[in-house]
Amino acid sequence: MATTVSDRKLLLDGEWVETGEWLEVASPYDGSTVARVPKAGADEARAAIDAAERAMREPLPAHKRAEILVRVAGALGRRADEAARLISAEAGKPLKAARAEVARAMSTYTMAAVEVRKLAGDMVPMDASQAGEGKLAFTQRLPIGVIGAISPFNFPLNLVAHKIAPALAAGCAIVLKPASQTPLSALLLAELETDAGLPRGWLNVIVGPASEIGDVLVEDERVKLLTFTGSPDVGWGLRERAPRKKVSLELGNATPVIVEADADVEDAATRCAANAFSFAGQSCISVQRIYVHEDVYERFRDAFVPKVEALVTGDPADEETDVGPLINRDDRDRVLAWIEEARHGGAAILTGGRLEGELLLPTVVERPALDAKLSCDEAFGPVCTLQPYATLDEAIERANATRYGLQAGIFTTSLRSAFEAGRRLEFGGVIVNEAPTFRADQMPYGGVKDSGNTREGPAWAVREMTVERLVVIQL
Ligand code: NAP
Repeated sequence: MATTVSDRKLLLDGEWVETGEWLEVASPYDGSTVARVPKAGADEARAAIDAAERAMREPLPAHKRAEILVRVAGALGRRADEAARLISAEAGKPLKAARAEVARAMSTYTMAAVEVRKLAGDMVPMDASQAGEGKLAFTQRLPIGVIGAISPFNFPLNLVAHKIAPALAAGCAIVLKPASQTPLSALLLAELETDAGLPRGWLNVIVGPASEIGDVLVEDERVKLLTFTGSPDVGWGLRERAPRKKVSLELGNATPVIVEADADVEDAATRCAANAFSFAGQSCISVQRIYVHEDVYERFRDAFVPKVEALVTGDPADEETDVGPLINRDDRDRVLAWIEEARHGGAAILTGGRLEGELLLPTVVERPALDAKLSCDEAFGPVCTLQPYATLDEAIERANATRYGLQAGIFTTSLRSAFEAGRRLEFGGVIVNEAPTFRADQMPYGGVKDSGNTREGPAWAVREMTVERLVVIQL
């Protein structure tokens, strides 16, 4: 059963507000009402930008920003169980995975606090040229200005943390629009930041129709950076509409992993099974396409499938559950349709491929056609494919045969193959001997191709959220 929580309010200019209209947050598992949140629109979005702009007129010194970030990390630790239950209730995320998300959000805040205290510019060696003689020059890193942020449903706490913690570290006030399906974790973070001493206006959280609020964030010139995590079509569409604004995009992937003949096959099978189905595959770097060298293909398959079948599917609030529901029925039915498409194209379904009650069972599809959706598009569901290959060249070519490029992986004991993959896989990150789902929050994380145009991780996000100002002094 979903946890019941009370009605919530939005954070606008330091006040907890209602709007007179309500949005219902429903459990993806059983449809029960988890909470209601006020529904905001364009007016609240504009008021939030006003508040953010006012807040930035009185900059917060770095040590105060760092103290707030450290306090939030501590408070999150003290309220970890509550936060995990909230994530689980609103997103349908199994508690195990929700607890891991809370620990990661603490790490995101901790790393952001480190970055504030390091925020500094560079000295420019002016007498290195004749023109600079007699002058002193340095750069400062200054806040870019008001930030607009839009976040997705799948990591409702930590992906919000990846926006609002670096924004505060950079000295920027922010207007956040979390996913309508999962606003509660974002509102919890807002509460923790306020309790930690954040002055009014620095963080504003509004929930409501995406395009209406998105339009204001795109069109209002006071928003200097729009940071978006979500699906590629929405993200690139926003960027096209805001040519004069900085728009940072963290988008999808169709995550490939290569298992070479010299790999530890058992270890690779264990890691892939755990990382293809966590949160029902609704992670942007969930293992989706597994390419296995033909010499070890059968050994891998025979080790992998029983591990998938051993995963517990069920109520996300149950501590034993590994795989819960998809975020909604439409997505579940879409993933089922993709599995059917692969089957009609000649693929074998090794396990799953059907519903148990309302839940889609973890599904392994063998040898889908190369142009099947599961072979190149983002499934974002509890399904992965197995495909044998003959040479590393062939595996890399297949892994790259997608419009996406976020993270990829390879299991191999050969340094040469690992370097080769690191060089030739066209992805933002290549993970060796671990599932490509791996992410520690201080890592630079982001994609190439359709997967995005930026890097998150507090150190990198703070760079995006600040501008370099040059000061030259005639001595
Ligand atoms: P989504 O449908 O694109 O929604 C993401 C956010 O965008 C939500 O807040 C949504 O609001 C908002 N939105 C939707 N249409 C909009 C519009 N026209 N203008 C402005 N905002 C709009 O994505 P999702 O289903 O929540 O998330 C899944 C996707 O995110 C996958 O593709 C996944 O790979 C990607 N993702 C990427 C990363 C990464 O770091 N690279 C991390 C996690 C997820 P509403 O909820 O109100 O519709």
